[in-house]
Amino acid sequence: MNIHEYQAKAVLKSFGAPVAEGVPVLSLDDVQKAVDTLPGPLWVVKSQIHAGGRGKGKFVEAEAGEKGGVRLAFTKEDVLANAKQMLGHHLVTAQTGPAGKQVNRLYIEDGADIDRELYLSILVDRESGKVAFVVSTEGGMDIEAVAHDTPEKIMTLPVDGGVTEDDASKLCDALKLEGTARTDGMKLFPILYKAFTEKDMAMLEVNPLIVMENGHLRVLDAKVSFDGNALFRHPDIVELRDKTEEDEKEIEASEWDLAYIALDGTIGCMVNGAGLAMATMDIIKLYGEEPANFCDVGGGAGKEKVAAAFKIIMKDPNVKGILVNIFGGIMKCDVIAEGVIAAVKETNLAVPLVVRLEGTNVELGKKIIADSGLNVISADDLDDAAQKIVNAVRG
Ligand code: GDP
Ligand code: MG
Repeated sequence: MNIHEYQAKAVLKSFGAPVAEGVPVLSLDDVQKAVDTLPGPLWVVKSQIHAGGRGKGKFVEAEAGEKGGVRLAFTKEDVLANAKQMLGHHLVTAQTGPAGKQVNRLYIEDGADIDRELYLSILVDRESGKVAFVVSTEGGMDIEAVAHDTPEKIMTLPVDGGVTEDDASKLCDALKLEGTARTDGMKLFPILYKAFTEKDMAMLEVNPLIVMENGHLRVLDAKVSFDGNALFRHPDIVELRDKTEEDEKEIEASEWDLAYIALDGTIGCMVNGAGLAMATMDIIKLYGEEPANFCDVGGGAGKEKVAAAFKIIMKDPNVKGILVNIFGGIMKCDVIAEGVIAAVKETNLAVPLVVRLEGTNVELGKKIIADSGLNVISADDLDDAAQKIVNAVRG
């Protein structure tokens, strides 16, 4: 689960991390009040969406102006003018997809004077099997380019159950922190680690972590995601969930306990097992089309769940055809066939559907589909299925 920057900063602040004063606002009426509580002379108006790259983003609507989703303002009037331009408009960043995301919340923050922008993240490092810090002196808006062009400027430091003095020193060295900034860093790294582990975060990214002109460190941006399997332990975090930021189809899928991720292509996929789902997406790409989603209905899905998955896939207007690829191990092919047929009838399916079944009761499953009288294309193997659906969507 993801949260907004301002929420992440509040969580980090509760552990003692240095963040700026700021006020989240939902409407223009609240902006004036917010700005009056902050000292100035610099304010930052920050779009709150669940996507990074806001600073370099572009708004879709012309009235939002040419500037990106993070704007510096030097007068209170300027704060208001920028807030007016940004609120309600759609911000496109490298992480939002071409339609962008509507900015429904802003965070008005006390601006900082920046000396250096650093990069810091904490994640679960699968290579070492430990929690690891990833740091770089080259923080800010171009970290992807740094990772691509000069990976030697990024250091990964796995830690063992806690941040020792030695670990903190190594991080300070890697970030070239001296004097006040070093003192701050020695305190900050254990704080961030504590927040990460106590709140069961999956990822914590501070980009940039800044050295201010007064020498102190500050968390200037914060992106946090939580391990969904541990959310039952954190009702306070669950409360931060902003469903308007999530794909409606993904929310519905989570209610059915379906693993569904919306993608940009045209072929809807319904598959059981993550490995088979990925193989299915790969082979669709191999034959020149793109999957519209990842959808794993799991091992024990019944007829209703299959029908629900089908309906969720059909809600995506980009879907030009559906490929059902199921291996009936625990799940029986006849049950799947019944679910598919029920869903096809209920949704008045108007796009081509290719079904490839294999496993328990496969003959019965195929017979149910053949006898249904519906326009369903049967396939014998994965290769055959992928070619048939690709040909079908191409007309
Ligand atoms: P992102 O583009 O979504 O990662 O948003 P950030 O919160 O990282 O902000 C983007 C950039 O805006 C930062 O890298 C800074 O260069 C700049 N910025 C953000 N806050 C401040 C601030 O308080 N003072 C100054 N001078 N620049 C800021
Ligand atoms: Mg950032």
